[in-house]
Amino acid sequence: MLSPRFRILVLLGLLITVGRAAEDPSSTRRAQAIVASAAFKAAVAAFDRDYDRFVNELVMLTEIPAPPFGEKARGEAYARLMQSAGLADVQTDAEGNIVALRPGRGGAPLLAVAAHLDTVFPADTNVTVKRVGTTLRAPGIGDDGRGLAFLLAAVRAMQAAGIQTASDILFVGNVGEEGPGDLRGIRHLFTQGPWQGRIKRFITVDGRSNDLIANSALGSIRYRVTFKGPGGHSWGAFGQVSPAFAMGDAIANLGRLVVPKQPRVSYNVGIVSGGTSVNSIPFETAMDVDMRSASPEELRKVDAEFQRIVREAVAAENAARSTVFGSITAELKLIGERPSGITPVDSPILRQVTATMQVFDKVPVWETSSTDANIPISLGIPAFAMASQSGDRTARAHSLDEWTDVEKTAAVKDFSLALALLLTIAEVP
Ligand SMILES: [Zn+2]
Repeated sequence: MLSPRFRILVLLGLLITVGRAAEDPSSTRRAQAIVASAAFKAAVAAFDRDYDRFVNELVMLTEIPAPPFGEKARGEAYARLMQSAGLADVQTDAEGNIVALRPGRGGAPLLAVAAHLDTVFPADTNVTVKRVGTTLRAPGIGDDGRGLAFLLAAVRAMQAAGIQTASDILFVGNVGEEGPGDLRGIRHLFTQGPWQGRIKRFITVDGRSNDLIANSALGSIRYRVTFKGPGGHSWGAFGQVSPAFAMGDAIANLGRLVVPKQPRVSYNVGIVSGGTSVNSIPFETAMDVDMRSASPEELRKVDAEFQRIVREAVAAENAARSTVFGSITAELKLIGERPSGITPVDSPILRQVTATMQVFDKVPVWETSSTDANIPISLGIPAFAMASQSGDRTARAHSLDEWTDVEKTAAVKDFSLALALLLTIAEVP
């Protein structure tokens, strides 16, 4: 058995950061002014008027299959809709992303706002939308059909209300967010092609609840594992358990672990240490282990496998030799997580998020996630993922019975918050 301390350390390390940024008067004033403005009210009224079109576009886009590497048809439809929403210059880049620039009046750096075109579902999946009341059910309708439909509705509402933002906004329907796509669309946007080096803030509208702001890009898990035992003389105490044998067993078994190549998973034992002399059974050995994946699910799997290997290696050593002077224990200390980076809660755009949400009586819950925001975050560009609907309006993402609810009153309310976030961030100098 592992010590209780083992579990406590793991738990402490894995706690999700929940917090709020410091009060920021200028962000609060900006949020209050924008939400109270006639133009903002006109934009929300335009969404209200145009609500049927929002629902129809959501259904239409969802019913075009868009498996990883098969987003072309949905991308073409999205480009046409972006054009009809009022953006004149809609481009398809070399990777298949649909990009459209909405010029601003100047005074703030370029903001890109994306939703992803691809789904996790194979091309032959039945994506017909089934309606029951205001609930729409189809694979991909929430993740990320709703994000795409929101961006179209936002552009249309901004056009109708004549809203001019400080920053230019690059509206993006990107490819390759889900598993096998490995973030290829947003990676391309930031590292190749015409927009490389130009985008200074990034938002992806891709999430399950508008309380959650994913500002932290989860890419890897790192542990220091310390094996402890009673130690003893190499001759006199021979036959007693040894942390060296337990750790050696764990390293050998980790080395035999077969992990997926796509999405890629890696593991490494980077540092091994321990012992005090050649003629002593060590009382302590340690190793530093790194596990990585762009897929949080695969990362969780390899993490669980690794923890099982450590537990079994400890149990095997305690069974193989005498524990009369004490048994072997292993302590896992989390020494690294999400090295892909984090947008700090006190960065200007997240201070603005906090202030804007406050106007809507909401407090952001900061989340660690693997989304398109991983790419800019890893490049040091402030970025996060948000949802355009509240948590009770969509569920079952990545399953065949995925659904989203478009009841109008709630949809208008959710639209207001999401639009306010875009518009306020577009004003942050
Ligand atoms: Zn998604």
